[in-house]
Amino acid sequence: MGEQGCYQLTCTIFLLFSPIMEDELSTSKYTVAVIGSAVAGAQVAGQLADRGARVVVFEQNERPFGKIEDGLPRWHSALRDKEFAKILNLLDNPRIQFVPKTRIGQDIPFEELVRSWGFSAVVLANGSWRDRLLPIPEADKWINKGLVYQNPFVQSFNHEKDPNYTGKRYDYPDGGLVVGGGLASIDMAKLLMLETSRAKLAENGHDIDIEALEKKGIPKACEEFGTTFEALGVQGCTLVYRRRAEDMPVASVPKGATPEKILQIEGQRRKILERARSKFCFRFLPLTSPEAALTDGDRLIGLRLRKMARDGDGKLTRTDEVVELRSSIVISSIGSIPEPIPGIEMNGELFAFNDWDLGRLDGYPTVFSAGNVVTGKGNIVASRKHAGSVAGYIIEKYLGLTDSPAESLPKDLTEEVKDQARVVIERVYTQVDPVTLPAVELMRKKVAARQQAVGYTGSIRDWVVAHPPPPA
Ligand SMILES: Cc1cc2nc3c(=O)[nH]c(=O)nc-3n(C[C@H](O)[C@H](O)[C@H](O)COP(=O)(O)OP(=O)(O)OC[C@H]3O[C@@H](n4cnc5c(N)ncnc54)[C@H](O)[C@@H]3O)c2cc1C
Repeated sequence: MGEQGCYQLTCTIFLLFSPIMEDELSTSKYTVAVIGSAVAGAQVAGQLADRGARVVVFEQNERPFGKIEDGLPRWHSALRDKEFAKILNLLDNPRIQFVPKTRIGQDIPFEELVRSWGFSAVVLANGSWRDRLLPIPEADKWINKGLVYQNPFVQSFNHEKDPNYTGKRYDYPDGGLVVGGGLASIDMAKLLMLETSRAKLAENGHDIDIEALEKKGIPKACEEFGTTFEALGVQGCTLVYRRRAEDMPVASVPKGATPEKILQIEGQRRKILERARSKFCFRFLPLTSPEAALTDGDRLIGLRLRKMARDGDGKLTRTDEVVELRSSIVISSIGSIPEPIPGIEMNGELFAFNDWDLGRLDGYPTVFSAGNVVTGKGNIVASRKHAGSVAGYIIEKYLGLTDSPAESLPKDLTEEVKDQARVVIERVYTQVDPVTLPAVELMRKKVAARQQAVGYTGSIRDWVVAHPPPPA
């Protein structure tokens, strides 16, 4: 019997013999599934649970922290600790069931989860884990032959000292090119500069770890060792961006911003880049866009780049100027897109949402989406804010978990009239029927069976302690 067959048999036995228990899930009126347990998923789950809904959170990984743990380079330790605590505080709620090591679309089909598990709503909070393809001809041909994508590169860096890491491991050669323009691309340039400078310092007998070097900045660390960055002989890397520093999406412009506000934010963006460049000594090439690979045999050895012009409205046009830059490695960091999930229609590289505020999909009237998978912004605050507003909509408009007028019916009505009024008001204030008890009971058993299959017991805090992060 295959692995899948074994799993189904275990579930069937579990469903037949598990006792009927009264718990938070089996006493619920509305239950919501959330796919992904990180910034956005935890926010949605926590908000819904606070308003009385029961929530089941499915997470493909062992640990619940998503990009905070596997996307951010490991030197962001203060930010990570703060975000870990926020996620755990939200998920540690008796109304929330956590189901780790469960990839929707693979371990449980998406359509089955939505249509036959009995959830009142399903929220996709699965982020964006696939790197957008570098727009040069035959980009695929050069992957891991001179061209590296950001997501696997950071994962390799974060798991550098993890003997159990099975993903591809990368080196950090000097003289690289990073293509991108967001916070993540600045981190990629930093990563290359930190690793190449640390190696040179070590050659000169100066030992410093990456976290300490990142905190001090390269010039200051060199000074403390009695040397200079220039004296290290590091060639350094270059960050290539098709727009200007002022356009980098490292700070966002609020909707309806005045021209003064826009200018102020453009200034902030310039400062963020300049601060990073002065601490980590990488070069920046604005208004330059990759056009083709420079190759030698089966390796990519650089890029041909087109210089761009920008008009007053921000529109980019190609100029006649071309530059060719050789490089030891090209890191593409031009954005992440959602991993396809079987059963969800795509529109190009994105999910085919028919409503981009709530992340709704044709054919799945109970499905919503929250966070990076909808916003496309690599930004924690943007993910959390969006998740908060989607959860607010589900609470108020979809499930009607607000203090509805049913709570404030005139006192002099008889109980019979009040009951009838409550039924009518509930119909008006919710778009969905409460789940019946037998359906909830079946769902509870399915959830418990899956938790048992992956070895999840007890509380999310105990689970996280029992499954620590890889050694850093
Ligand atoms: C290098 C880098 C640097 C960054 N720097 C910053 C920064 O300085 N400041 C900042 O604000 N932001 C930064 N970001 C962006 C920030 O980390 C993300 O925008 C944010 O964490 C996204 O949160 P999310 O919950 O929307 O998505 P994610 O964190 O991606 O969470 C999605 C979750 O869903 C799970 N999942 C996916 N598919 C499935 C499935 N099929 N079934 C079950 N589970 C699934 C994933 O495992 C994950 O846990 C950076 C990102 C990177 C990559």
